[in-house]
Amino acid sequence: MINVSTPLEQLSWIPRPRLLALRRLGIETTKDLLTHFPRRHEDRTEFPHFPREETDAPICLCGEVIKTSLRRFGGWKKIFEATLEESQPNALSEPLVCRWFNLHYVQKMIAAGQRIVVFGRPRLRGKRICMDHPEFEVIENDEEISIHFRRITPIYPATEGLSQRVLRGIIYRVLHECPDIGWQPIAPASLVRGDRSDAIRAIHFPESWEARDAARDHLVLSEFFAMQMLIASRRFESSTRAGKAHCGSGAVMDRFLKGLPFELTVAQRKVISEIRRDLAANYPMNRLLQGDVGSGKTVVAIAAMLLAVEAGYQAAFMAPTQILAEQHYEVLRRWLEPLGAHIALRTAARQEESALPFFARNENPGSARLQRAGDGILPSRTFLESESTSGAHYSRRRLPHFEKPWAIYAVTITTAHRRSLGPQARNIVLNAWRDFHNTRYELFAICVMPDHVHALFQPWPKNEASPEETRFWSLAELMRSLKSLTAREINRAEEKVGPVWEKETFDRYIRSDRDLAEKFHYILRNPWDAGVAKQNEEYPWIWTADDERRASRSSSPENAATSTLQACAPQTLPAADDPQMIVGTHALLYESVSFSNLGVAVIDEQHKFGVAQRARLTAREPAPDVLVMTATPIPRTLTMTIYGDLDVSTIDEMPGNRGKIVTAVRDTSKLGEVLSFLRTQLEKGRQLYVIYPLIDESDKLDVKAAAAEYELWRERLHPFRCELLHGRIPAPEKKQIMDRFRRGDTKALISTTVLEVGVDVPNAAIMLIENAERFGLAQLHQLRGRIGRGEHKSYCILLSSSQTKETSAKLAVLERTANGFEVAEADWELRGPGDVLGTAQSGLPALKIGDLKRDAELMRRARAAAMSIFEMDPRLEQPENQHFRRLIVEQQGQSFSHVS
Ligand code: ADP
Ligand code: MG
Repeated sequence: MINVSTPLEQLSWIPRPRLLALRRLGIETTKDLLTHFPRRHEDRTEFPHFPREETDAPICLCGEVIKTSLRRFGGWKKIFEATLEESQPNALSEPLVCRWFNLHYVQKMIAAGQRIVVFGRPRLRGKRICMDHPEFEVIENDEEISIHFRRITPIYPATEGLSQRVLRGIIYRVLHECPDIGWQPIAPASLVRGDRSDAIRAIHFPESWEARDAARDHLVLSEFFAMQMLIASRRFESSTRAGKAHCGSGAVMDRFLKGLPFELTVAQRKVISEIRRDLAANYPMNRLLQGDVGSGKTVVAIAAMLLAVEAGYQAAFMAPTQILAEQHYEVLRRWLEPLGAHIALRTAARQEESALPFFARNENPGSARLQRAGDGILPSRTFLESESTSGAHYSRRRLPHFEKPWAIYAVTITTAHRRSLGPQARNIVLNAWRDFHNTRYELFAICVMPDHVHALFQPWPKNEASPEETRFWSLAELMRSLKSLTAREINRAEEKVGPVWEKETFDRYIRSDRDLAEKFHYILRNPWDAGVAKQNEEYPWIWTADDERRASRSSSPENAATSTLQACAPQTLPAADDPQMIVGTHALLYESVSFSNLGVAVIDEQHKFGVAQRARLTAREPAPDVLVMTATPIPRTLTMTIYGDLDVSTIDEMPGNRGKIVTAVRDTSKLGEVLSFLRTQLEKGRQLYVIYPLIDESDKLDVKAAAAEYELWRERLHPFRCELLHGRIPAPEKKQIMDRFRRGDTKALISTTVLEVGVDVPNAAIMLIENAERFGLAQLHQLRGRIGRGEHKSYCILLSSSQTKETSAKLAVLERTANGFEVAEADWELRGPGDVLGTAQSGLPALKIGDLKRDAELMRRARAAAMSIFEMDPRLEQPENQHFRRLIVEQQGQSFSHVS
């Protein structure tokens, strides 16, 4: 019994070479074969008379070959011509000349006397009517005529080693010999009309055009429905994944927003509140933030990250390029460090963390560590080395830690068995530690609990030390005197005898500011974390830096203890060991160490990453909230497909302070005028981008071309300073170039498209794009988004030397509109969506029959049907929904196999 999954080998009549050719197309079973859908159909019920005029639409003609010839031209090139005559010629009939250039095989297949069918556009060439490179089929015997002719005939996607006729013949025979192979319906009856097996038969060999259209609708709807079921299942699956609320009070976010030099737009506010709602919910957020270039997505992203960080979680911010990651990092540091955020950068080229809040921020640090000098050992040496090399410096010196000058220690001292310190005893300890502060050591923090003490301090040099040899108080000496002093006093106060302390444990030798901050935070929180104090309850402790600040104000620091509440609930963020915000490129995907506690992941310029990469960052348990951002506006059909598993927020409004962008297409011959315009703009103080279309950034030749062009531009723009930027420049240098441009030291940047995404320099108001015809519309729009970011009127000049109709239509779109959605719709009109599915980006199976553009309405219907099924039965548990479940599993196999 033949069914849909019968291997074609079992149909004994298909010869082996054909089976192999089919297999190369991925066709192994009857189902594969019958879902190899025609690309189009030809009306061969009747062939028209041969034309005497050109036509724009391709037509299908049948005739007899009366003559063939092979001609040479231009030396080695060959042209093969076959002249056809109509089967029933009349007096007015003209022969048709079919021509193929440099195609050997055609010449071998066509001979005089044959009847052939051709499909192509007739053109007038001189006096002859010609068809260049028509598709053709040779009619071999009249028996087959009923399959291939006198009907609406299917034309399949071109295949190698398998002619149209052979493929059509095989499909025809399978359909006729096995009329019922048990096709299961895909879409519910409410969505499609008729039976799937009828639709399959009719799509290959339709009785009429209406039947063909109905069959196609059925199959497209089924295909879209299956895809939307997959999308809907992802959506419902992620909403049922274990998530957490990652939303703080918003106090820090409000402070951040208030501190911005501009007002948020209404759209930004709306989007932030949508995101906030998601963050506060305890299911994972999966949201797409769409907004044209320059609409201010970054601020929204930062607000989201702050909410998560406020709640004690980490935030990740992933950007597609080094330049962009660096830029975000700078922006975050500028805006958030004053709020005390600990920000890190992770790219392949650069790993860095921002300076730490507590000590860096003190205007008057009062910290001896930062001020002391004169003993010949520079205190700042302590943490001179960068984070990544910390330790290396010390190990090179091979000193045991207790001999290291300016070492900082974290120490825990536990009370002796069953000794619990009352409030009075705890004050004794605090005061004793304070007594030596700034004489024997610097005390950063101490917290005394009933049964243990944490202290963070840095021993000082001894006063008696001779100038040749500076000696420091050792840990042992300090501990011994502190313990004996306090033990005596406590015993006296509590009228007890016996040991008060256990031996101290030496927790940690602090190696970096990061260590220090972490320990600091730990000690700060200790009364609560150790369960001694309730949340919101005060507990005495000492933070000397704070003491000193107060001391300098009041000059009577009699109250040693500082309020824990006051210290622990600042309007800034708490210090943390792991960075709170990590900005990076793809390198982030491989960052496992620093994400102990990921709350929200923001993915900028989403279209540059694939689903698989997105998943890598976000598929953790519990699931982080995910915000993906894109500035590539896409038509709605695509949104509900590619991003169908996401909720969509749209910023549909530009900030008000933007100058207008004027876009103009100019012929290369007008370069002179353009140059003088550029110079007047540079004289007004504006900055300029000149963009080159380098096809392949890795191509040496291209880089050379850019370098040559750069020399040219330097002359043209003299005396304004130019710099060259392209993908092969090493990252640190690239950053310096960008920094100089940002500061305005460089007036013009001659660049390749590395500039494409996200770069933000408001004073750069002029852009010249060379060979604009070589870029796609979307990319041109992205590039243009680099200007018009300040209050100045901006100009985008598209230089083009190509005069074709397509080019001018394309470039005219940009002259006409600056709205990204309109550009996207126009692009889609001019070009079609291309293969956006079936790529790593979407993680969806490629479409076999549906067309995202043409069938937008069908997609909408399929989506509605799929969503309603999931709304009624999110886990697909109902018996009638079981075959949908299988459908999804099947597709998952297809779509993820090629996404690693
Ligand atoms: P994009 O959406 O393309 O990522 P950005 O977030 O980089 O845009 O924002 C572009 C510029 O606009 C930045 O300099 C940003 O500081 C500024 N900006 C953002 N929101 C506003 C606003 N509401 N008003 C004025 N300027 C804004
Ligand atoms: Mg951006």
